[in-house]
Amino acid sequence: MGKILELPKQVVDMIAAGEVIERPASVVRELVENALDAGARRIDIRAEGGGKDRIAVTDDGEGIDASDLPLAVLSHATSKLKDAEDLFGIRTLGFRGEALPSIGAVSRLKVTSRAAGADAGATLEVLGGEATPPKAVGCPDGTTVDVRKLFFNTPVRRRFLRRDATELAHITEQVALYALAHPSLHFRFTHEEKEILNAPPAGDLLKRIQDVEPKDRVRELKPVFHQDASLSLKAFVAPPTRSAPNAKSIRLFLNGRAIRDRLLLHAVIEAYRDSIPSGRYPVVYLFIALHPAEVDVNVHPAKIEVRFRNGGALHGRVTSLFRKALEGLDAPPPALTLRGEPAPRDVEQRSFPLHGGDAAAPPAQRVREALASYLETRDAPPPGDAPAGGPPAPAPLSASPTRPFLQVHRSYIVRETEEGLEIIDQHALAERVLYNEVRPRVARESIQAQRLLVPLTLDLDRSRVSLLEGNLDLFARFGLEINRFGPSTFAVQTTPPFLPDGEVAAFVEEVLSDLTGDAPAAPEKKLDTVAKRLACRGAVKAGQAMNEAEIRALLARTADLPRAVTCPHGRPAVVRITLAELEKNFQRR
Ligand code: ADP
Ligand code: MG
Repeated sequence: MGKILELPKQVVDMIAAGEVIERPASVVRELVENALDAGARRIDIRAEGGGKDRIAVTDDGEGIDASDLPLAVLSHATSKLKDAEDLFGIRTLGFRGEALPSIGAVSRLKVTSRAAGADAGATLEVLGGEATPPKAVGCPDGTTVDVRKLFFNTPVRRRFLRRDATELAHITEQVALYALAHPSLHFRFTHEEKEILNAPPAGDLLKRIQDVEPKDRVRELKPVFHQDASLSLKAFVAPPTRSAPNAKSIRLFLNGRAIRDRLLLHAVIEAYRDSIPSGRYPVVYLFIALHPAEVDVNVHPAKIEVRFRNGGALHGRVTSLFRKALEGLDAPPPALTLRGEPAPRDVEQRSFPLHGGDAAAPPAQRVREALASYLETRDAPPPGDAPAGGPPAPAPLSASPTRPFLQVHRSYIVRETEEGLEIIDQHALAERVLYNEVRPRVARESIQAQRLLVPLTLDLDRSRVSLLEGNLDLFARFGLEINRFGPSTFAVQTTPPFLPDGEVAAFVEEVLSDLTGDAPAAPEKKLDTVAKRLACRGAVKAGQAMNEAEIRALLARTADLPRAVTCPHGRPAVVRITLAELEKNFQRR
């Protein structure tokens, strides 16, 4: 008998959903794009529980005809493309007809719409891929798409989601980008009745930026304009003193949509190179319009990455325009840093965001600012995490993270300390740092994962297959989404960001060996075993060269470690030699 079966429609949709819908912010992206395609002037976004419980997007666009409603939630059904010819002149944001069916496959979806000029509206619901027949309802012109219980039927995915505040911050970021890209439309975003963003139609870009972005970031923006036959460029740049801790402060828009583009990013950073300390990023809003023939937007399914026909020239143009604009901005001399201590501004940035912010700003704005900086610092544990009344904070590994250091034999880091010097086993220390970061986190939630462009395949020993199948949830908590692929083959779809692809197979093998042990381990014990393996595989190896930035980054993460730091298996990670010992050895006394 043959073995090949056609997949049921619901499974096909769920697989497609995995590609389109990663988290609540992806739902928002798809729904807002549909509203934009429908010619909406006003778009209202409401969310609950970080978007995990509910996302509803209402627009005043052209609406969906009652007879079209069942088609709108059907795979590969679209009103935006009629034949293959149309593919080459796409003017809409969507055209694949995949978003609504994908969302419908993994949530409770309800679409309510009234086409302009129709007598009444219609509504239908989709539950796990099955649509009800449309019902007539009274409603205003336009469309509301209501998405509840995202991933209710794919628990592994649901577990991949982060805390409400983090998912909310992703949504906020997404909405802000659309609001910046479409200044003449009204965008409003509320979370559990709290207004997070309200941007009424703005006559000019600068006003829109001020409505949408954190106040302190956009205080001294200077405009840059340029126009020639092939390129139209409009930008707002902040003085170097307003630098930010990550590259999200560089907002890039091409032909009306937000993009992520290395070439442009680099061109901007290059212009600020001499005026901003390394590790900080300028605040820039760059809007470019190019002839469609000059750029290929179809290289990325979400079209956020693009390819320029003449990238080199564009790079040079952007850098030189920005340099010229910066010359006009009076930058105060760079802050003096004494003995390598971080500049005060950096210290400030690391304080917990909810205490910062602009006290004079309206509450919604403050929430947004807090969220934005929360997103930036989300890897730091929130202050409330320490058990109240617990043991006193351990003495730090070393008081100053910025004393001179050097790597020897690609295995040890030697660093000057107050009382002499210390020799760090790079692998042991990195392992400890990673373990301490991972362990408390998996106790609460899953580790954030990144989707691999090409899944990694694992060929297992037959005897291991059912063991792995029985522990897919365990791996999922550590950021590895794994599916069965063949009789003894599995595909790894996602990995945690710090685990190199080359280490994945060994990591899985080792965990499976650990789990083969005689007695079935208690759940907590299991988590601990896996955390140790993950820390070991994710940590820098002995024999691996580290550059200055990598060493600094590692040392910066050691602040909370006790003096007698060991790796998770108990080997020492640091050996110390005091000045007194050195003096004795050199017979100075
Ligand atoms: P696509 O946007 O790629 O066409 P979707 O699954 O996102 O696919 O939407 C399917 C169809 O449903 C669209 O082509 C459009 O006709 C209709 N539609 C979806 N959302 C809206 C909306 N907000 N307003 C009007 N029509 C909509
Ligand atoms: Mg769409």
